[in-house]
Amino acid sequence: MVKTIKDIEIENKKVIIRCDFNVPIENNHIIDDKRIISSLETIKYCLSKNCKIILMSHLGRIKEESDLKKNDLRIVSKRLSEVLHKNVKFINKTRGRKLEDAISSMKSKQIILIQNTRYEDLIGKKESSNDPELASYWASLGEVFINDAFATAHRSHASNVGIASHLPHAIGFLVEKELTHLEELKCPDKPSTVILGGKKVSDKIGVIENLLTKVDYLLIGGGMAFTFLKAEGYKTGMSIIDDESIDFCKNILKKYGDKIVLPVDTRTNKEFKDEGSIEHKDITEIDDNDIGLDIGEKTVTNFENILAKSKTVFWNGPLGVYELENFKIATDKILNYLVDNNIKTILGGGDVVASAKKAGVIDKIYYASTGGGATLEYLEGKDLPGLIE
Ligand code: AMP
Repeated sequence: MVKTIKDIEIENKKVIIRCDFNVPIENNHIIDDKRIISSLETIKYCLSKNCKIILMSHLGRIKEESDLKKNDLRIVSKRLSEVLHKNVKFINKTRGRKLEDAISSMKSKQIILIQNTRYEDLIGKKESSNDPELASYWASLGEVFINDAFATAHRSHASNVGIASHLPHAIGFLVEKELTHLEELKCPDKPSTVILGGKKVSDKIGVIENLLTKVDYLLIGGGMAFTFLKAEGYKTGMSIIDDESIDFCKNILKKYGDKIVLPVDTRTNKEFKDEGSIEHKDITEIDDNDIGLDIGEKTVTNFENILAKSKTVFWNGPLGVYELENFKIATDKILNYLVDNNIKTILGGGDVVASAKKAGVIDKIYYASTGGGATLEYLEGKDLPGLIE
């Protein structure tokens, strides 16, 4: 069993917390600080135990020099200081004398945030390849390690798996909360329903196979619905198709056809954009040059009828191209339906969580998971390497 922060001795210790401060930044502003706010419970608990706190996180991806500036974590230390009402000292280094001196002069209840762990990816991808030298160096900076970054738990990086293999370690409150909610889906209140959307079937094959053994209904929308419709023999025009997954769709429809609900209508355009000749069509009417960009009204009603009797819902992937005003309609309607009818819903994955934020309903959703890939891998039944025992 993976240990939680309350299971290990941290009092007065130097604690390294791997946080998820991978926040969206535009024009030098954090446009959504939910991830920072979500980290507070663990940080405050460590403060209450008189720890010296060393925070680590990645931010974005670092492939070349020009990625460094736009993924500088300093901006996070400022926001964190504001929401904690306490100074968080930022060290613009991932290793070296300056960092070591700052840590060795720390007093209890002081907090340091070190520079983006992925700065170590610039030469030799040391963070992302879990470089052993880097892992043992970072571990040498603290006495205890707490992993509170769920979104990277499916990756084996130096800042999670690497450090944990050298120090007494546990998960923080945020990761614990994620696991508790995702566990609910392993034995869901029945009837239970999964809604899947988004682009590609191939990314979700594992999750589809695993969840279909547990849930009562699988509602399929988004671009991936067209691969299923094609497998059923429908014409799908120019809609997105994941050709490699057609056989998988055929098999899964044969095996679980009674649980799977596909769209009966769609909103189409001739081009992948927000304006033009937008039409509402039954799926039997799709022309060669049509692109299905959202599910239609009849499908929304069919989905709502099933959701009305569902006690637990898990949703990954938007039902249409929610980034475009004309094709976010079904996603918005279903989100509002779930909220208005108080249906216990767990959202997993960046896009559907972003849709819920955009629709202004995120605070009314039962639980929005912070992990995309990690959530899906967990629901596939895979062990997450970042959560080592
Ligand atoms: P995924 O990462 O597979 O969950 O895909 C999310 C993306 O799927 C979003 O950016 C949506 O715009 C896109 N998407 C949803 N519905 C469609 C569709 N009908 N055609 C093309 N892309 C879609």
